[in-house]
Amino acid sequence: MDSIDRILGDIPLPPYVTAEDVTFAVRAITVHAPEQWPEGPRCRNDRAPHPCRLHRWGRRVLDLRGLTDRQIHTLVAEQTAPVR
Ligand SMILES: [Zn+2]
Repeated sequence: MDSIDRILGDIPLPPYVTAEDVTFAVRAITVHAPEQWPEGPRCRNDRAPHPCRLHRWGRRVLDLRGLTDRQIHTLVAEQTAPVR
């Protein structure tokens, strides 16, 4: 997965972050959450070293949208709550 990261680089950000992009971004950082591995945190979805490309993309979109860490936390909690 590291080599794919290197080939593709970071995912481009949308020129203007819409509410829909925010939904995708929250989903990305939720699905691409860190998992503890002996050598350090890795993405639980694609096993890339955390934060993986999609996690980084999600965070950059939410930063661009001007959301604080606390607001991001709330959005992630809202999205993860109804799943189980
Ligand atoms: Zn990932």
